[in-house]
Amino acid sequence: MSNGTDYDVIVAGSGLAGSLAATTAARAGKNVLLLDRNPEPEVGKKTTWGWVCGDAVAGSHINFVQNRLKVKFGQPELDRRVDGVYAVSPDLKTRFLFDGLGYTLDRPEFEAKLLQLAKQAGATYMNDFEVTGPIIQENRVVGIRGKEGKKEEKEYRAKVVIDALGISTVIRRNLPENIFVERKIDIDDIESTGRYIYEFEKDHDDLNYYDPDNALIHLNNELAPGGYGWVFPKSGNKVNIGLGVQKKSLEIRNKKMGRTDNLQSLIDNYVKWNPVLKNTRVWNKNNNGKGNWSVPVRRQMESLVFDGYMGAGDSMVMPNPISAGGIGPALISGVLAGENAARAIDNNDTSVAGLWQYNLDFNEAYGNRTAGMEIFRIYLQSLNNDILNYGMRTFLTTKEASDITLGLVPELSLASKFRMVLKGARNISAFSNLVYVMGKMKTLNAVYASYPKSPKEFPEFKKTVVSNIEEAKEKFKPNPV
Ligand SMILES: Cc1cc2nc3c(=O)[nH]c(=O)nc-3n(C[C@H](O)[C@H](O)[C@H](O)COP(=O)(O)OP(=O)(O)OC[C@H]3O[C@@H](n4cnc5c(N)ncnc54)[C@H](O)[C@@H]3O)c2cc1C
Repeated sequence: MSNGTDYDVIVAGSGLAGSLAATTAARAGKNVLLLDRNPEPEVGKKTTWGWVCGDAVAGSHINFVQNRLKVKFGQPELDRRVDGVYAVSPDLKTRFLFDGLGYTLDRPEFEAKLLQLAKQAGATYMNDFEVTGPIIQENRVVGIRGKEGKKEEKEYRAKVVIDALGISTVIRRNLPENIFVERKIDIDDIESTGRYIYEFEKDHDDLNYYDPDNALIHLNNELAPGGYGWVFPKSGNKVNIGLGVQKKSLEIRNKKMGRTDNLQSLIDNYVKWNPVLKNTRVWNKNNNGKGNWSVPVRRQMESLVFDGYMGAGDSMVMPNPISAGGIGPALISGVLAGENAARAIDNNDTSVAGLWQYNLDFNEAYGNRTAGMEIFRIYLQSLNNDILNYGMRTFLTTKEASDITLGLVPELSLASKFRMVLKGARNISAFSNLVYVMGKMKTLNAVYASYPKSPKEFPEFKKTVVSNIEEAKEKFKPNPV
């Protein structure tokens, strides 16, 4: 066991966020240790279930990495190009296109490529290392402890520890009590999700169920209470199909419908519900054909830094609150975390204040609209299928819906529609609630536009964010059926 500082930077977890953080910190000349519990051929595997994910990512997020790191991705890791993502209403009569060009990834291949970048940049990679928690000294993070080869107890110390352990992180959860980074999150902000990768035969053409050129999202609170189902095309005759649910919404839905469904039975029903995918066989390359895991769907941690500590990706609950897309923010935050760790070390200040610029950089690159989007998610979870059908048909244009998924707030046409609806349409309260939501999104976007420039102003900022979110949670309760 060591007591001095072994490394400049320790990156815990070599998933998407971790491998990129190690790459950028090492490229900036820092002495980096990248640790993960997986053996190298399984780099980026999240759990014993595999690399559980829908694997859809926006082209803009891939471009962010390509441009910043001057690298080029291609086949096989970018498995299939898609034109965009369609969100389809429960009655399949309305669809909104959003997100633009993107890809479905071959995740094991993509993760292997990112690890190569980290190694080429000079990071020391140690696999089969199970992190068990942070080392805390004088109320700051000074290293990590864990089991090498999963047996021998070891400690490593560094000027900065970057937590990229994903949603089950044992570092963030074991930080000292502090105002900057919360140790726990609300279970209602987590989606239980699962998916299959299948080979299939196409029974007939129906773009509502399978679209070779687009990712499909099925909003349907009976099939996927408090979440959605997805059918994402992969290369050849393969598809990634799965769904996510909010636990509370599932319980309410089961009780009201007299059912006892769980995540797995819902996934299996969803596959059967799809008339286009026939003769499905699990495509089990890398033993990755079937798996369940969790996704956080709230705003990222209000601060991503603490003394000696930074977080990136799912450990900081970064996935998009509406789409649950976490690949993009994991890639972006990984790049920025490594760069900022290196800068703070050069400045000889790895305290919260010294690491603060990372908060500002992530806020600007991605995070400044997620709190508003969380409000929209809370609202969506309060709508049953009837209102979803009606609302998607009447409340919003495709452009407005697409804006909302980017956290933008459509204003004027909504106001005019409100007047129209007041003239006698149904579901006035759902619509006026949507107008309330737009107002809250605007408020939170403005709050994040003035993200605190230093830790001193942070407590007031956090109080404002939390009180707005709590107000929305109080107003909109899950109500799936
Ligand atoms: C079913 C499902 C579908 C999804 N679909 C999509 C989608 O289509 N598009 C999208 O953008 N996002 C999707 N997501 C979210 C996305 O997969 C995550 O946001 C993304 O993987 C986050 O990357 P990460 O690097 O932060 O963490 P992870 O990918 O979780 O990587 C964490 C790494 O840390 C390692 N690790 C964890 N604990 C320890 C420990 N104690 N010691 C050592 N190593 C450890 C893990 O083995 C892993 O290598 C989905 C998630 C799920 C579960």
